[in-house]
Amino acid sequence: MEKQNRMSHVLAIPIPAQGHINPMTQFSKRLASKELQVTIVIFSSKVLKHTRRPGSVQVVTIDFDGYEGKISLDDYLRQFRATVTRKLPELVAELSTSSGHPISCLLYDSHMPWVLETARQLGLIGASLFTQSCAVDTVYYNIHEMQQKKIPPEKLLVTVSRFPSLAALEIADLPSFVQGMESESEYSSLLNQVVGQFSNFKDADWIFVNTFNTLEEEAVNWLASQRSIKPIGPMIPSFYLDRQLEDDKEYGPSLFKPNLDGCNEWLDSKETGSVVYVSFGSLAALGGEQMAEIAWGLKRSGCCFLWVVRESERKKLPINFAEESSGNGLIVTWSQQLEVLAHRSVGCFMTHCGWNSTLEALSLGVPMVAMPQWTDQPTNAKYIADVWQVGVRVKANEKGIVTKEEVEGCIREVMEGERGNEIRRNSEKWMKLAQTAADEGGSSDKNITEFAADLARKFH
Ligand code: UDP
Repeated sequence: MEKQNRMSHVLAIPIPAQGHINPMTQFSKRLASKELQVTIVIFSSKVLKHTRRPGSVQVVTIDFDGYEGKISLDDYLRQFRATVTRKLPELVAELSTSSGHPISCLLYDSHMPWVLETARQLGLIGASLFTQSCAVDTVYYNIHEMQQKKIPPEKLLVTVSRFPSLAALEIADLPSFVQGMESESEYSSLLNQVVGQFSNFKDADWIFVNTFNTLEEEAVNWLASQRSIKPIGPMIPSFYLDRQLEDDKEYGPSLFKPNLDGCNEWLDSKETGSVVYVSFGSLAALGGEQMAEIAWGLKRSGCCFLWVVRESERKKLPINFAEESSGNGLIVTWSQQLEVLAHRSVGCFMTHCGWNSTLEALSLGVPMVAMPQWTDQPTNAKYIADVWQVGVRVKANEKGIVTKEEVEGCIREVMEGERGNEIRRNSEKWMKLAQTAADEGGSSDKNITEFAADLARKFH
């Protein structure tokens, strides 16, 4: 079928963090596959790689890097908002003219709810993408609502941890910024930021959540009772869901440079299901003592391991550890995570439980050792271990350290024995459900189609 001359054009706007760029890029590609023109704007000078599929997503960049701690977070966020608010109207005008397809919709990360004001000023549709789990959204939403009603923090914590549509959460299972809310902690700016995602939740034209119905049925239904929301996940490149689209294997824009020398060959040389893949994502920073315990725990497990230690973390490794473990272990500064998780030799993922990593492992059927660090990760870990039962969660000692014995024990529990088999069976089940949601006509795909059709209809 011949395309219309002028298509409805979406401008997708993620915040400058890898865990937000990835799902937004993937969503953009899905929309482009449904006859929409999509441009994604990356706010960073550090983008290394763009995947440009012909006729698919265009990437433009604006120099404004992610938070690097040089100024206070509040100042950074103010500057970010001012820059984006100033530049967006210019960008919309410029792209509408240069592409010949007028922008009709701003699709923004939920961490930038104020983009809706620009959408309104320009007469555009405003759609927000929430990149956390729906359980975590439910926690933040309730805090937002209760803060408006001036409910004291201690009461608020009890209410959210016992909220009916959520698993029974201990305080330690709540997102870290919420755990610390009783005291005036360093987290208060971050708490304001995550809760602020809901400041105009009911006003946006569309709300999308990177999850799928069957994964979080109760939380999805409850949040949808507050206003319409559309689960569209798992937002991972379609090759890993249906193995058909060879050209949709990578997310696209990356802030990190993978050092993959020999990585695939190394994985190829290992037995099926024998490798532990370890990664703590793009932001988490572990202490030196903790890094050493992980290192010795990996060694004690006797398993082969592929460990992502970002350049900035490398000095925390025990001296000579990388050299001494060569053969059994490979340490890289950044991986092609999806390719690794999809590799037959990977039997377990020791993860910080970032929401993207969690969804990726779940969608690829890889059992997890959950080692949450901060933000929404404790809640994700709770669901991994106790709700979906696709992994085990490490326990820290009284000093807050996860010891080498604990690391070894958890890896063995997942890789060996009856519990491991049970976890693998559950992982298979969730993998199939993730694929079903993303398949053509599946619950998430339907929501994407509905949005694309609505934009196309309003445009003509
Ligand atoms: N990732 C990657 N290579 C790595 C580590 C991470 O490609 O070595 C990707 C991973 O696949 C995921 C994203 O970076 O899509 C990290 O997002 P997540 O939500 O898991 O964690 P965050 O970095 O936001 O803490």
